[in-house]
Amino acid sequence: MTASKNPIRTRFAPSPTGFLHIGGARTALFCWLAARATGGQFILRIEDTDRERSTAESVQAIIDGMSWLGLDADEGPYYQTARMDRYRERVDQLLAEGKAYRCYCSRERLQRLREEAMAAGEKPRYDGHCRDLENPPEGVEPVIRFRNPDEGSVVFEDRVRGRIEISNSELDDLVIMRADGTPTYNFAVVVDDIDMDINLVIRGDDHINNTPRQINIYRALGAAEPEFGHVPMILGGDGQRLSKRHGAVSVLAWREQGYVPDALVNYLARLGWSYGDREVFSRAELIELFKIEDVNRKASRFDTEKLNWLNQHYLREDDREQVLAELAWHMGRADLDAVNGPALDDLLSVQADRVETLVELVDQSRPFYRDFEQFEAGAAKKHLRPVAAEPLTALRERLAGLDDWTPDALQGAIQATADDLGIGFGKIGMPLRVALMGHGQSPAINQTLWLVGRERSLARIDQALAWIAAR
Ligand code: GLU
Repeated sequence: MTASKNPIRTRFAPSPTGFLHIGGARTALFCWLAARATGGQFILRIEDTDRERSTAESVQAIIDGMSWLGLDADEGPYYQTARMDRYRERVDQLLAEGKAYRCYCSRERLQRLREEAMAAGEKPRYDGHCRDLENPPEGVEPVIRFRNPDEGSVVFEDRVRGRIEISNSELDDLVIMRADGTPTYNFAVVVDDIDMDINLVIRGDDHINNTPRQINIYRALGAAEPEFGHVPMILGGDGQRLSKRHGAVSVLAWREQGYVPDALVNYLARLGWSYGDREVFSRAELIELFKIEDVNRKASRFDTEKLNWLNQHYLREDDREQVLAELAWHMGRADLDAVNGPALDDLLSVQADRVETLVELVDQSRPFYRDFEQFEAGAAKKHLRPVAAEPLTALRERLAGLDDWTPDALQGAIQATADDLGIGFGKIGMPLRVALMGHGQSPAINQTLWLVGRERSLARIDQALAWIAAR
């Protein structure tokens, strides 16, 4: 935290109409980083004025996703539906000052305007018909329109995109309140950002066309506009806009697929922001180095391989508590109980190098916690042959009397058995692996023994010997 940087007060303002998807999570992360990097505040605001599409489940999914990623808000969640009186108050102020007006135009009239504009090859815009209406029609509930300035232009210095200028002649009189009294997005967002003292708005660049309109509303409300940083969108690996077709897009689905929060945070930060060509950043480093100006202007492509690579990195290097908590969650999902096998810390120390995700890790660790029903046919046929009976029997004896059940002691016991019988290590290793796991894949054989544990190892060797005898 550097005192010389102006504290940024920013917000993440999702509409709760779905899950927290990757693009939203990245926007939230950039907001959080910008606030943390400057000792400022990060606010969560739920934009739920669209009552038909907003759901409580979606609000919960957003909160859960952010909490899983560790993006803690300093304030909020605020809900726009709790602020309706305030929007009304601000609309009334604009009406009283002549900066907004009631519009009675029928749907048909607006439709006709649109069609005429299209036919003339022009951008559809409202023609200001109700601006100075003398005799409003009776029995029509009006909408409220903002009286956009006719002259001049709106200029702002976007902190990602640079200077942007839009002429007011391109903007029309926007509806700010619907006939049912609900505010529209462009209006509510400005009222909120003023009341919440936001000094930097970070959001997706799909909103960039809204910004000049919003700036005019700030000015009409007598407020100075904040700064803006519009971040580019995320594309799938094929260059198309990221969508369900590209696999999981919701943050919690990434959790289910076995990614850890720090890996995803690191990945999302690099998806659109860079610091030289460095890839790995701890949270503390991100906070120290992140600047909104360094966000790329171009859209970035989602790269699952890189995410997998980072995830593996974090499985090995990350703060162990976080990984262990995630691992415990995945064990529960796979219906495995850690009390029935090795401590999760031991499991992780062996398996982290061998997998990219926690789902793989748990998948491959099942035999450490649960007995298997039968040997995989091919592996048993190949490795549980009569010649394996003698080394397995000899090893079993040695294991039963071993003082220390540690990877080193176990390595010594296998080696000593092989030496005694004058055979190679591998002649014991593969049959033993199949005996212990039921199939031919496992970590190093001494580590496998260590994780399976003494009692279970002895029982499984017996089971393999019985299988050999019966074949
Ligand atoms: N509710 C808007 C959205 O989800 C927020 C845009 C903004 O940050 O102003 O796209």
